[in-house]
Amino acid sequence: MRRTPMDPELRASRAAEEKEKELTAWIPKTRLGKKVKAGEITSIEEIFKENTPVQEPEIIDILLNLEETVVDVKKTTRVVRAGRKFSFRVAVLVGNKNGVIGLGTAKDAEKWPAVKKAARKAKLNLVQIARSCGSWECTCSIQHSVPFRVSGKNAAARITLLPAPRGVGLVVGDNIKDVLRFAGVSDVWCKVTGATSTKLNFIRATIDALSKTTKMKASNAITKKMERR
Ligand SMILES: [Zn+2]
Repeated sequence: MRRTPMDPELRASRAAEEKEKELTAWIPKTRLGKKVKAGEITSIEEIFKENTPVQEPEIIDILLNLEETVVDVKKTTRVVRAGRKFSFRVAVLVGNKNGVIGLGTAKDAEKWPAVKKAARKAKLNLVQIARSCGSWECTCSIQHSVPFRVSGKNAAARITLLPAPRGVGLVVGDNIKDVLRFAGVSDVWCKVTGATSTKLNFIRATIDALSKTTKMKASNAITKKMERR
């Protein structure tokens, strides 16, 4: 199949139209889905607060404007009786650049269906992130960094993210810049240990660390108290 190059703006508006059509035609199956489609639930915060499991990615498409990017593609080979069988394992990252991210992985014999499946999974696997100015040296009160030091791990990958003042940027490996950008974090220092070549493990470890910004409520309160002093 040959694709003719299309103007990116036109392509984006076509994609938006397509999405709009899909969402209008969508018939929700879950109670949560019905409520969202009926406009009874209008924000993702309501879902996070109640901790309601989301089973339909359309719910997320209605509530959030997520960007997607493929962060990892692996071509795997399996030897079968008839010869070799290839498949793609794809990891897709989604995020609203405002405190919500998700990661999904999927496999398929072809790349594009694997990307679609992974994106659906990523939307059902969202993590909420708390941000803050976070740094002693910075008093801008814009939410640009992590609120306090957080660590995360996955397999052998370990990462610690530290609050940084505005303008520092993302002092992290290229592997995980997308994760922080998609989360809406623009300034952070980090420490990593483990095999830095395993990109996906580091992405997962970073998401694990970021997810602790909302889980560690007690230590958050302590940080606030210290800031007031
Ligand atoms: Zn600041």
